Amino acid sequence: MLRPDAGEVMESRSAREILAAVLARPDEVMLEVGAGGELLVARLRVVIAALLLVLPLANAVSGGTVRETLIGLGGAVFVNVFAQVWLQLARRRRRYRWLSFATVAFDVTATTAVLIVLAFAHLPAALNSMVVWGCYLLAIVLTALRGDGRTTLFAGALAVLQYGAIIAAVFAFADSPEHLLSSDYGAVTPGPQVQRVMLLVIATMITATVVYRMQRLVEMSGTDGLTRLPNRTWLLHRMPRLLEVASEEDGSLSLALIDLDHFSRINDEAGHHAGDRAIRHVVEVLKGMTERNERLVRLGGEEFVLVMPQPLGTAWERVDAIRRVLGQRPFDPERGNLEPLRLTFSAGVAASPHDGHDLSTLLRRADRRLKMAKREGRNRVIARDG
Ligand code: GH3
Ligand code: MG
Ligand code: MG
Repeated sequence: MLRPDAGEVMESRSAREILAAVLARPDEVMLEVGAGGELLVARLRVVIAALLLVLPLANAVSGGTVRETLIGLGGAVFVNVFAQVWLQLARRRRRYRWLSFATVAFDVTATTAVLIVLAFAHLPAALNSMVVWGCYLLAIVLTALRGDGRTTLFAGALAVLQYGAIIAAVFAFADSPEHLLSSDYGAVTPGPQVQRVMLLVIATMITATVVYRMQRLVEMSGTDGLTRLPNRTWLLHRMPRLLEVASEEDGSLSLALIDLDHFSRINDEAGHHAGDRAIRHVVEVLKGMTERNERLVRLGGEEFVLVMPQPLGTAWERVDAIRRVLGQRPFDPERGNLEPLRLTFSAGVAASPHDGHDLSTLLRRADRRLKMAKREGRNRVIARDG
């Protein structure tokens, strides 16, 4: 999940911190983005696999041997079957954590397999077929869509290891220098092979940097600038999945819509700047009271949402306890001779599945209850209609 203080040190990170971020499991929003990317890659793979079926047929038409055509056809069918399997898995609502690693391993290893088949047909082809070698680069670059730096490094390491093994094997199997010469593929020499391995490493580093930047941008777009809390965008992206998980596990998910009472008075009496500090003060108190499995979101202005994996009654108790604590921690405007100001809030609570199954229904319900709390005199929490 997005860390509540995400974004605080976004720009000034050392190389070690960047590496740690690339190697870390992405936050939940990024995993959602990555699942969409996995589906895109799966669709692309199906198209490429379908195109592969044309190659053996073209070979047959252009007078290739039956053996070559059958090997090509077998390989293409194999790739197509897997492409369909990966697509079906990527389409599922349930997310498999291992899926990107499995598909990345498949893409890289399928490339290696084709190079090995080429080697048996004609040794220099294994190391000098730029089109097939380019598939390693594609496999590495496409990991950027998964938004997970770990898959990028995995793809890069696997490609370097497998291609390195092919280089070693080809040089070991070549009995004479003529063996490494080809009219179609040129001469196989060590220099360009080292360069190709370097290119795989460079492509991996560039892709990991792209993933890192994507993760930071998603983090920034989901973080509120004043309080560093997750914002409305975060809530809109994250809630559907949280609700889905809660319903799969037959659990409840409550949300409290919290609005500070008479906040415009703070702005009027102490100034807008003090108003901002008052908002930060409230957030500090609220954050201190929220538990690890709860999420505090700044919806906008002086309105917040607290997401709790609790049924309605327990959620009401939690929010009411927070309300009481806030009442005991007045805000010191530190200006002129203004007395510390007691800040209070009103809140409306709604829960899934009790009040609805989607974010907008729950927010509407909570808003109705919040309005009721304001009408009834403020500084209270309401969890039922009427
Ligand atoms: P109520 O009890 O009915 O909620 O009264 P209220 O004055 O809090 O009214 P309302 O919630 O409608 O208005 C919120 C005010 O909060 C409006 C705006 O001046 C102020 N506000 C909203 N966002 C910010 C902010 O980021 N900084 C500051 N300083 N003030 C803000
Ligand atoms: Mg308001
Ligand atoms: Mg208000």
